[in-house]
Amino acid sequence: KIVDHDPNCLFCKIVAGQIPSKPVYQDEDFYAFHDIHPSAPVHFLIIPKLHIPSMAQLTDEHAALMGRLMVLAPKLARQEGCNPYPAGGFRLLCNTGAEGGQEVHHLHIHVMGGPRPWLRG
Ligand code: 5GP
Ligand code: ZN
Repeated sequence: KIVDHDPNCLFCKIVAGQIPSKPVYQDEDFYAFHDIHPSAPVHFLIIPKLHIPSMAQLTDEHAALMGRLMVLAPKLARQEGCNPYPAGGFRLLCNTGAEGGQEVHHLHIHVMGGPRPWLRG
């Protein structure tokens, strides 16, 4: 069952300001903040304020919300210093479930970019 807010969830606590974070962006539905252990020159997370545990719980009702998240990502990437497409750009990552490498069970998208050599290949 999806609840709006889980008092035991780390990212719900971050949204509520109970745990400090470095903000990138916020509106009624989303919060973006810097990853505490960046693995790229630009590395922040975008989360819906709604407590959705992962992509595995998404339903058709979330389609518009997730669409807006995807539109937000490139805007914030540019604002945070990712260089323009196509020479610049960024990578999105959404770990889902234990086998997907998910550690925090509140849906989030990693936005990673900035000058190489952080990314191989
Ligand atoms: P995932 O669940 O996709 O594996 O990753 C969770 C991400 O959240 C990790 O990259 C980790 O560094 C980040 N993270 C975990 N705890 C905190 C925290 O308290 N504050 C912030 N800003 N990031 C966190
Ligand atoms: Zn949560």
